[in-house]
Amino acid sequence: MTIIDGKKTAADLRSNLKNEVDNLKKKYNKVPGLTVILIGEYAPSKIYVRNKEKSAVEIGLKSEIIEYPDTIDEKTVLEKISELNKDENVSGILVQLPLPKHINNKKIIDAIDPNKDVDGFHPNNVGNLSSGYESSVPCTPLGCHLLIKKIEPNLNGKKAVILGRSNLNGKPMTQLLLKENCTVTIAHSKTKNLKEECLKADILVVAVGIPKLVKGDWVKKGSIVIDVGINKTDEGIVGDVDFDEVSKIAKAITPVPGGVGPMTIACLLKNTIECFKRSLV
Ligand code: NAP
Repeated sequence: MTIIDGKKTAADLRSNLKNEVDNLKKKYNKVPGLTVILIGEYAPSKIYVRNKEKSAVEIGLKSEIIEYPDTIDEKTVLEKISELNKDENVSGILVQLPLPKHINNKKIIDAIDPNKDVDGFHPNNVGNLSSGYESSVPCTPLGCHLLIKKIEPNLNGKKAVILGRSNLNGKPMTQLLLKENCTVTIAHSKTKNLKEECLKADILVVAVGIPKLVKGDWVKKGSIVIDVGINKTDEGIVGDVDFDEVSKIAKAITPVPGGVGPMTIACLLKNTIECFKRSLV
């Protein structure tokens, strides 16, 4: 059984990206820039945004955080996004979610130039991904995809089951695995016989938000199990998969922490560089 080391894979990816940024700098005399808009005082968002900035700077990207109080009006944020859309020093724009209730998520996401949408949430990018065209792909499923491919480069004809249908995780994950010629089932809270569905999976991706939902007897022997869940419990941070049980059955499994989590920020950096490169052509 392989414990998929997301920390090391992410570190390797960041190192490759750093080389790429160095080469871009030599060739074009400029570097990709990531701008993050952070609204309010929500502690996890603040920590996450600081980590993004630290990682961006470490690989040589330009990084900027624009902070607003949670009383900020929607119009001001939309005007700032419009300004950033026109700024050629800004390659990628990310508005950290969740937003305060009085700010409309969809309006904000729709306002970002799809070519600068490093989160891959803009409807143009969602549509392009589902049509199989080039697009920004949401960072967490992109990271899961890279981890799966590391274990199994040829996914042709594999049976994949995705647990969770969020726009952030489950849906884009489905598109990525369809593109790899997997036969994909997407399951959710209304799915009947969830355990039986999971038992069919060669590749099981779980993004639900319920600690240790997936047990050892839900998983096919020799499968690859990717655990996206991050749940705070009395025993610390745990995933959506019961690691102790499932690691005895699966061929490969991501731990929590140290699996998918570290890949998310590395993929954000990757997306920023891809946006920069697309702006050059
Ligand atoms: P979400 O938007 O809340 O979606 C959860 C999905 O799980 C929904 O589709 C829901 O079904 C489904 N679900 C809920 N209860 C279920 C059940 N009992 N059986 C089957 N399906 C069930 O969550 P998310 O944003 O995708 O996040 C999922 C987890 O990933 C969370 O723990 C989150 O913290 C974590 N996460 C981790 C990273 C990372 O970097 N590792 C990034 C983002 C999120 P319905 O659609 O029917 O409601």
